[in-house]
Amino acid sequence: MFSRTGGYSDGVHSSLNFSFHVNDTDQNVCKNRELAQKILNLAYLASAHQVHLDRIKIVEEKTTMEYDGYDALITNCKGMGLLVQQADCQAVLLHDPETQTIGAIHCGWRGSVCEIIPRTIERMQTAFGVVPHHIRAVISPSLGPCCAQFIHYKTELPAWMHAYQVRRGYFDFWAISRIQLVESGVPFQQIETTGICTRCTPSFFSHRRDVASGRKFGGRGGSVIGLPSV
Ligand SMILES: [Zn+2]
Repeated sequence: MFSRTGGYSDGVHSSLNFSFHVNDTDQNVCKNRELAQKILNLAYLASAHQVHLDRIKIVEEKTTMEYDGYDALITNCKGMGLLVQQADCQAVLLHDPETQTIGAIHCGWRGSVCEIIPRTIERMQTAFGVVPHHIRAVISPSLGPCCAQFIHYKTELPAWMHAYQVRRGYFDFWAISRIQLVESGVPFQQIETTGICTRCTPSFFSHRRDVASGRKFGGRGGSVIGLPSV
């Protein structure tokens, strides 16, 4: 899980921006992605142009392409990395050591509402025979309960999520993701939460911080899970 430092981009994208869709130059984004790939020693790095819905792509070939319109990627190809791009949203990264299958989920509040985490685990089961009990999961730096304010939560969030309100209008989406993982069969002790709030931590990109400072564009950080080549 990368912080925003150490990359090639300037200004509001400074400096490790992973997104082609936030007005940075493609050249900078390519260089940033290549840097991440090199550091992690991954031959390929697949990604998605994410849309806050629940479509899941099973990556069956070794590729460095960006798929359009997906929010989760799954693969068992060796040497492949899966990239999630985020600025406050969660990357939920999954690994099944038994079948050597990995999953990378982009999950903002809309993803929580449309249950992309349970759906991805279900696809890992049907497509690769993954037993959820074997999965290890990690929740990336993302918007914490300190900053996840939802003024219109009564219309935006389903009733069951209201129990995760830590104070009026503020929600613990880390706990919401954990419960979705546990209900999908992932043992609680195999779930790690980094517990870093991106809005509070200047070394991470934050959409809410950009909006608060009147910026139209900002960068997107990256989280990667990969399988070694051999
Ligand atoms: Zn915060």
